Amino acid sequence: MLAGHSGLGKTIFAQQMAKSLLCQEEDNHACGQCQSCRLFESGSHPDLHVLQSEKRMVEKEDLFAIYAPRYLEDESKRKKRKKPSAIIAIDQVRGVIPDINTRPHLSACRLIIINTAEDLNINAANSLLKSLEEPPSDSYFILISHDPSRLLPTLRSRCNRIDFRIPDKQQAMHWLNEQLSDQVDISQLLDRASGIPIRALELAKGTRHSDEEQVTQQMLQLAHRQIDPASAAAVMIKAGELKSILESIQIWLSRLIRLKVSSQNTTLAINEGDKPLIDLGNRLNFRQLYDFLDKVSKSKQLSGGPLDPLLALEDDLISWQTMFSK
Ligand SMILES: [Zn+2]
Repeated sequence: MLAGHSGLGKTIFAQQMAKSLLCQEEDNHACGQCQSCRLFESGSHPDLHVLQSEKRMVEKEDLFAIYAPRYLEDESKRKKRKKPSAIIAIDQVRGVIPDINTRPHLSACRLIIINTAEDLNINAANSLLKSLEEPPSDSYFILISHDPSRLLPTLRSRCNRIDFRIPDKQQAMHWLNEQLSDQVDISQLLDRASGIPIRALELAKGTRHSDEEQVTQQMLQLAHRQIDPASAAAVMIKAGELKSILESIQIWLSRLIRLKVSSQNTTLAINEGDKPLIDLGNRLNFRQLYDFLDKVSKSKQLSGGPLDPLLALEDDLISWQTMFSK
């Protein structure tokens, strides 16, 4: 299981790992030349199986999106829906299981990638458990998860977990430097992206709207009572989906907590731009911050359900503002 916030490279890592495991050369890295590597790149490797939701397939036009349709419902059925389905259904899992019980076609093993594990609905997750517990000897399951706390404990416990963490700033800046031209203020860009390198890159290329910036602005205004929770919720929902807004709030809070900790260490220099956040963090104690972080995580878990997104967000923002009432 590859676990961590989105934007830390889990999908790219999964692709490289899959390609290397399937490669027919004996080196640890994919050679890029053999039949396996070539089929992998062209989206037609017979031993790579990808389960993901239709929604993810539509939104991210990456290599996995080429592999995903094999286990989705027929196009005629999918077209009848108003919106692409955001879940991985039991039929998709049932579709892949017979395929992993035959010999690999080309490579020495076969891979089943689940992108992402939290998209599995409860029935799909349950029907996967047995295969995860006793996979055929030449099969690997790679589960990608942006939020492992949302997964069934029985699913988590069957996996070896690799955690993807936010890299330290120097390392992230070094990587971004290689991707971007000299004209960009990389340090500032990284701050806007809460330290997450791929988000920073997407911001620079204009392919991502800065949820983070908006979250910072609204959360500060709420704390200073310059806006009411209903209006702030409306502004935020207009620009994004509930789940991604809540994730941005989570990341933002983690950053606030980190800044609060480091500001207590008088030997560390404080970045001028972080001052408003540090002041805010110092008006609350850690208990309050962690309780609120828990509340936001819970809302995120419920965000795919029947809740009204606007009301759900407003409820969280009311809690936030209430903490600053005295
Ligand atoms: Zn190869």
